[in-house]
Amino acid sequence: AHVMEKILYRKSFRMKNLQRTWQESPEGSKMLTFRKSLPAYREKERLLSAIAHNQVIVISGETGCGKTTQLPQYVLESEIESGRGAFCNIICTQPRRISAMSVAERVSTERGENIGESVGYKVRLEGMRGKDTHLLFCTSGILLRKLLGDRNLNGVTHVFVDEIHERGMNEDFLLIVLKDLLSRRKDLRLILMSATLNAELFSNYFGDAPTIHIPGFTYPVRTHFLEDILESTGYKLTSSNQLDDYGQDKLWKTQRQLMPRKRKNQITSLVEDALKNSSFECYGSRTRDSLANWNPDCIGFNLIEAVLCHICRKERPGAVLVFMTGWDDISCLRDQLKAHPLLGDPNRVSLLTCHGSMATSEQKLIFERPPPNVRKIVLATNMAEASITINDIVFVVDCGKAKETTYDALNNTPCLLPSWISKASARQRRGRAGRVQPGECYHLYPRCVYEAFNEYQLPELLRTPLNSLCLQIKSLQLDSIGKFLCAALQPPEPLAVQNAVDFLKMIGALDENENLTNLGKYLSMLPVDPKLGKMLIMGAVFRCLDPILTVVSGLSVRDPFLLPQDKKDLAGTAKSRFSAKDYSDHMALVRAYEGWKDAEREGSAYEYCWRNFLSAQTLQAIHTLRKQFGYILKDANLVDLDARTCNSLSHNQSLVRAIICSGLFPGIASVVHRESSMSFKTMDDGQVLVYANSVNAKYQTIPYPWLVFGEKVKMNTVFIRDSTGVSDSIVMLFGGTLGKGEMVGHLKMLDGYIDLFMDPSLAECFVQLKEELDKLIQK
Ligand code: ADP
Ligand code: MG
Repeated sequence: AHVMEKILYRKSFRMKNLQRTWQESPEGSKMLTFRKSLPAYREKERLLSAIAHNQVIVISGETGCGKTTQLPQYVLESEIESGRGAFCNIICTQPRRISAMSVAERVSTERGENIGESVGYKVRLEGMRGKDTHLLFCTSGILLRKLLGDRNLNGVTHVFVDEIHERGMNEDFLLIVLKDLLSRRKDLRLILMSATLNAELFSNYFGDAPTIHIPGFTYPVRTHFLEDILESTGYKLTSSNQLDDYGQDKLWKTQRQLMPRKRKNQITSLVEDALKNSSFECYGSRTRDSLANWNPDCIGFNLIEAVLCHICRKERPGAVLVFMTGWDDISCLRDQLKAHPLLGDPNRVSLLTCHGSMATSEQKLIFERPPPNVRKIVLATNMAEASITINDIVFVVDCGKAKETTYDALNNTPCLLPSWISKASARQRRGRAGRVQPGECYHLYPRCVYEAFNEYQLPELLRTPLNSLCLQIKSLQLDSIGKFLCAALQPPEPLAVQNAVDFLKMIGALDENENLTNLGKYLSMLPVDPKLGKMLIMGAVFRCLDPILTVVSGLSVRDPFLLPQDKKDLAGTAKSRFSAKDYSDHMALVRAYEGWKDAEREGSAYEYCWRNFLSAQTLQAIHTLRKQFGYILKDANLVDLDARTCNSLSHNQSLVRAIICSGLFPGIASVVHRESSMSFKTMDDGQVLVYANSVNAKYQTIPYPWLVFGEKVKMNTVFIRDSTGVSDSIVMLFGGTLGKGEMVGHLKMLDGYIDLFMDPSLAECFVQLKEELDKLIQK
């Protein structure tokens, strides 16, 4: 131990020299000057002393004041300065992988190093760190996983949990675990960081931990609501009283998701009314149309286009940030804007996007200043709300919505729905415009809608299925799930917990007594939704790994089939070319991916994507994820990737369908044919429709009794997204308890049924592999 200590002291000494050399170099001192200009710097000493004297502190400060990039760095620097650099081990969590990566990169640059030296990052399936890394940025999910292996977090000296105001599920979960850990690790320091002022909530949770606020400075931002946007074109809304009325609507407030149809018609007709006499020279007739059809449940692309035109033509220089809900509408809007004579002209407008799965090269462009006379327009998800700061923004366009559930593309949820943001989010979005000079913010909804927003967003723990979370609690061997979650900042409903437990029992991850089964153990190792994890395992066991890897990766990333607004028909036809009458979006995905691989080999990937309306970027992301899933399965000893056997049955279509079914149930709908019409019913007896861009939307009849699907989307009615037709025998054998044939549990009982129900090829595989499956479950 003494020798070890000596080595560490020597290393600390080297670190100190390195740090000084950099800070005294010309570039280093320039960087230091920039860093000293940030509001966080003025609080540096106070912060360090608070961290030294308290086990927990809560820090709040405006986005961009230097919390993420500076505070962990101050701790690192001061440890290095005091000659203890090699002894500290700082972890800082981020809710999103992309921010963990970009922040680590930024901090490395500020320290004049390459990433992976003293500063590194680790996100799911990827990372960059070395033996000298003492400050690690990671996602909150990664820290949870680390706790799984080491419940005491040995060796870690400081934990920063960032963006706690977002109240992400992982952050709330982490806080429960860390709170428990603090009593065992008295030397551990916990620093919570938040962009908004509701610090008391967190302070109270940790026994009145001290709070520090970093005062920031922002310029005033002028706010325009929809009626102001109308007004600026020469018209006033007259019936505003009725609008106020509507804003107070309690029903809508509680539902928060969709407006009652009556209200919707009312507001639409008001806007329509208002438009009759207005003059719209500057916006053109298209805007007039789109405003006339203003629909609170949709995002008006034409309206956005008009506002952007207005900014480009009439407003002062400055970058524009447009808040959209997700990748789908960002890419649709981008396509539309690209076709516009002004907004699509690269000599006048630099059109960029900012979302969870963007490429690193694109990421850098967002922070760069465009050439003179070119206006930068960034189409972003709510990621740009707080975790990423673009400095030169002067104009903000806010659609008022966000996709609530998916922070992380890998974390697939059954019901995904853009819904109205909170007042806090709207304020935060507005604030992005005032960082360098007075700014303007265009909210594309009436003020009364804003008044009806909730103050804060509901914590994720209270609004998403808890399946993954409960599985993780179990594998962490914490208390009973219910008891554990009661310790949360705002505990979820018992019913939600019960649903999750029931679900995990149904897929066989937990046994009757809520103990983790073998399958459950495997599932907790796979960094995907337990459903998809099960599909992967089944694909491995049933030797059709390649197509299943593609399906699971596709469901985890997003749909690679593009759907440009103005070419919907062409795109639809292109997609159905991949489905070859097999009534499956998942199979179409597999074919599209395989075609892309072939095209890539021949060097024609670009034409291939263009011709087939496929996103090369998404296919690339699917490709990367596929490989990573493959490695994880290999690590878990579930497949031998080198052996050809893991794909020996991939050609068997029924089998692949069956495995898809085994992963997606209870996402299943029966196909009801009645006379000339066809309808779909889910297990809970709800009527659903097939989403327009599904291959199954094009048929009059479907020769399968069932459709399995991964995701329900609620709009006016409930739609099912990607779906695959399956037969009775598949549901019987692979549809879990739904088909009364839970294959994992009732394998023996099924022996007699096999010949009766299954198509012969399926039966053959099933019998062949039964033994192996048995082994896996019982091992
Ligand atoms: P906070 O966490 O308080 O929101 P950050 O620490 O992320 O603030 O950022 C502080 C400042 O550092 C920002 O205002 C910005 O000027 C600068 N900054 C952050 N990331 C980058 C980057 N990748 N490139 C250039 N400047 C950056
Ligand atoms: Mg930050």
